[in-house]
Amino acid sequence: SEKYNKGLEKSRKTFSDKLNELFANFRTVDEDFFDDLEETLIEADVGFDTAVRISDELKQEVKLKNVKSKSEVSQTIIEKLVNLYEIEGQNEDKELHFSEKGLTVFLFVGVNGVGKTTTIGKLAHRYRQEGKKVMLAAGDTFRAGATEQLVEWGRRVDVTVVRGPEKSDPASVVFDAIKKARDDNYDILLVDTAGRLQNKVNLMNELAKISRIITREIPDAPQEILLTLDATTGQNALTQAKQFRDVTHVTGIVLTKLDGTARGGIVLAIRNELHLPVKLVGLGEQMDDLRDFKPEEFVLGLFK
Ligand code: GDP
Repeated sequence: SEKYNKGLEKSRKTFSDKLNELFANFRTVDEDFFDDLEETLIEADVGFDTAVRISDELKQEVKLKNVKSKSEVSQTIIEKLVNLYEIEGQNEDKELHFSEKGLTVFLFVGVNGVGKTTTIGKLAHRYRQEGKKVMLAAGDTFRAGATEQLVEWGRRVDVTVVRGPEKSDPASVVFDAIKKARDDNYDILLVDTAGRLQNKVNLMNELAKISRIITREIPDAPQEILLTLDATTGQNALTQAKQFRDVTHVTGIVLTKLDGTARGGIVLAIRNELHLPVKLVGLGEQMDDLRDFKPEEFVLGLFK
């Protein structure tokens, strides 16, 4: 988790610098302290509601347990953050799901530039390393260059890419990929899609058609519909997530570019406002810069 620590450097810096500042001026846990704490949390993109909630719960706990010292207060904040994440997500599927037998299909959705293709490439690399047979389907036939980029990743990590002509029906590309993947006993198929939120009706129809074709061929697939969000866009990412949740059945979040942001708090906002599990995090542009999301590791990483 060296990489994890490095990846979260920026978030940690803002978060813990601010907290340190807060505690440097610490005299007592009064209203001012809680105001400052809320502000710090909001700046780290925890989200307004979540920040107020953490602060309120902390207020109660401080009273209840008669917590006074600096170190007790900071310890309580850390516990609060970890608990908040865990409790909210208690009944939730945090793991990626695979087919018991036969082909597993993951569908990737999200707007352009968030890191979908890169995540697919990284994940293909991971499964390839595990000795699995991996195929990619270039379901973004709309944007010039999207297919090429996926093909390039395929070359880099040495996996097969199924593609169609430009502007062709993505569902037909996916259909071809499934057929080929089954014929040749592939383990996992990762499907890229176009994320045109500008036209929600079209997007909804397109994703529905792709999903329908997958499920028709393999009843328990797709095992995951993963929404990719760019952590550097902060609250914008939340807005996107809400819009995607309206058009498709998202099963989990991939949060990219956590290495390039001071807004790691967005993880908590996603948890509390969207009730969707973060399943993977991107910590860089290289093929091994992808991690499973672990709440404890994440929160502690912010406070090191
Ligand atoms: P797509 O349009 O959603 O497929 O996005 P891309 O996969 O093309 O990624 C857009 C840009 O973000 C590229 O320059 C990637 O190298 C970069 N990128 C993707 N994931 C990460 C990440 O976790 N960290 C950083 N620093 N850059 C990333």
